[in-house]
Amino acid sequence: MKVAVCSAQSYDREFLSEANANFKHELAFFEGRLSEESAKLFAGFPAVCAFVNDVLNDNVLRTLAEQGTRLIALRCAGFNNVDVLAAENYAIRVVRVPAYSPHSVAEHTLALILTLNRNTHRAYNRVRDGNFSLAGLLGSELHDRTVGIIGTGRIGQAVAQILHGFGCRLLAYDVAQNDQCTALGARYVALDELYRESDIITLHCPLNQNTLHLIDDNALRLMKRGVMIINTSRGGVVDTNALVAALKSGHVGHLGLDVYEQEDDLFFRDLSAHVIQDDVFERLLTFPNVLITGHQGFFTTEALDNIAHTTLENISTFEQSGQCRNEVTSALLR
Ligand code: NAD
Repeated sequence: MKVAVCSAQSYDREFLSEANANFKHELAFFEGRLSEESAKLFAGFPAVCAFVNDVLNDNVLRTLAEQGTRLIALRCAGFNNVDVLAAENYAIRVVRVPAYSPHSVAEHTLALILTLNRNTHRAYNRVRDGNFSLAGLLGSELHDRTVGIIGTGRIGQAVAQILHGFGCRLLAYDVAQNDQCTALGARYVALDELYRESDIITLHCPLNQNTLHLIDDNALRLMKRGVMIINTSRGGVVDTNALVAALKSGHVGHLGLDVYEQEDDLFFRDLSAHVIQDDVFERLLTFPNVLITGHQGFFTTEALDNIAHTTLENISTFEQSGQCRNEVTSALLR
């Protein structure tokens, strides 16, 4: 099938091209993002392969449908950037990679927690500068800490498994309980209780209308002073301005972000020679107790390999049978 791969980075080319030896699709790689401005470039492609910050709103989907696109193959799990109802309206099917490797994001979550907890991000620079003073690097142990996990699906469960090994007390909140997490000793509680009791709060729910700015002023007010917040889900789950205020007052003690609400203006490109215009993001970078990575939770060899194979398999299934594996439909929005 002729497939336009949008937002294609060098690693997308490498992993998709290698996996494609078994599938034989006609892949065309486009570095640019899919947007209202660029949608016309993808004329004549029955399948468009998109990533997390490609725009798939009503206008883009209408343009793609008019140009003959019948399948959107997301090479990611989240689908908050897709207007699913519009896709159904224009008879475009949407498929995704629901579970390429929950361990990639779970382990990155732990990397953020451990780095912040032991100040290794600061120690790294200090030692390279010949400064071996320990002042300001005092850490705390994870053992016996209470960690609140919001969203206990595939990634939340993998995080619970790792934290169980560290001897943490686990609290959980989800709209659907996961027995595997309960078996690990996680106690499902109301959000308010999770906010009040947790030393660390880690977010693993999708971004949707119920979770947009879930972590806002009101939620932060309920949390312990000095709480650590980790977000590897989607930027919009937290109200960044509220976080900045809570960091300034010392109410939030540590913040680890792999995602950021306005990340589509920043992430996945080299802006090191540019002046970054996002003042909120720049303010976040000034805090010594904030650690930000540029949406790299998924970025492991194992995950990229899984993503490439599942994406191409999703496309082949549609091409051969008109059926969809791993389909995103409006039923998932409920
Ligand atoms: P999943 O579907 O397996 O789990 C999501 C869980 O969130 C489910 O248990 C669901 O019931 C729960 N949930 C839904 N609405 C909720 C609500 N209002 N409050 C609390 N919980 C709610 O998904 P997953 O594979 O575990 O991925 C979770 C999220 O992680 C994705 O939606 C995506 O946004 C993000 N993600 C980030 C990266 C990265 O690189 N940083 C990579 C993959 C996924």
